[in-house]
Amino acid sequence: MPEQLTLSSTLRLNNGVAMPLLGLGVFRSPPGETTRATVSYALDHGYRHIDTAKAYGNEADVGAAVRASKVPRKEIFVTTKLLGDDHGRAKKAFAHSLKELGLDYVDLYLIHWPQPGKRLEAWDALVEIQKSGGALAVGVSNYTVAHLEELFAHSSVVPAVNQVEFHPFLFQKELLEFCKRKGIALESYSPLAKARRLDHPVISGVARRVNRTAAQVMLRWGLQHGTVVIPKSNRPERIIENSRIFDFELSANDMAALDALDANARTSWDPSAMR
Ligand code: NDP
Repeated sequence: MPEQLTLSSTLRLNNGVAMPLLGLGVFRSPPGETTRATVSYALDHGYRHIDTAKAYGNEADVGAAVRASKVPRKEIFVTTKLLGDDHGRAKKAFAHSLKELGLDYVDLYLIHWPQPGKRLEAWDALVEIQKSGGALAVGVSNYTVAHLEELFAHSSVVPAVNQVEFHPFLFQKELLEFCKRKGIALESYSPLAKARRLDHPVISGVARRVNRTAAQVMLRWGLQHGTVVIPKSNRPERIIENSRIFDFELSANDMAALDALDANARTSWDPSAMR
């Protein structure tokens, strides 16, 4: 991991594209003014990466905030995702997402989850979307090692990113190491475990030691494992809090204590059932 990370630090994807280490997630961010105001606030306060999806119903608001921002478009990293139901019509779905966003391109387009049946065909479509310049990078989400092995047997194009649930209670070490070996950036979704375990005594103990909040400790843990973190908040004070994770470091002992919280505990669903 590079020294002296800052809010504008990036990770270099396998095709050379730079992806900011911190992003704002907008799942369950209500469509309309709330999402527009949230994204604008985050961009005004240094965030340069927004993670949306067709499924979230707020691509139009994300796009409106990005377009209205004084931050130049090329400095903002925008991700959106292909719905499982759209696997047989990925190019059409992508064109629809771009239209909703009101943008000429996205930085990253992901297969949202490994829908049984057409996911290999969907991957080929994403590769073509990237070649056409519609997405600067393409990747997957909710892919297990088995899904990635299946993809490798089919295509020579390695996904730039695998976005999966990843936090101390779900430390997917094997998947993380596999992705690192293959040159795939692991992006942590629900990096705060949806704020359900912020009062866990180990996390509060570490937080007290480093004089930070529990949320900051969880996000920093994700960064120090070399992942990209995309916490969601609609509250200005938390958007700021979640961005202040670049000026402290967790010791090896604290990292080990947090690693040991792993209980394979998901806040979402287990994609290994998607065969
Ligand atoms: P998070 O782990 O980011 O937690 C979000 C929750 O934590 C919200 O309820 C938020 O409430 C609260 N919160 C945020 N910051 C703080 C803080 N500093 N202190 C206390 N509470 C806080 O969960 P998400 O599931 O939203 O994941 C983040 C992003 O990951 C999503 O928004 C989405 O972009 C992506 N994602 C992708 C998935 C996929 O299948 N690819 C699945 C799930 C998520 P409030 O808003 O009120 O502050």
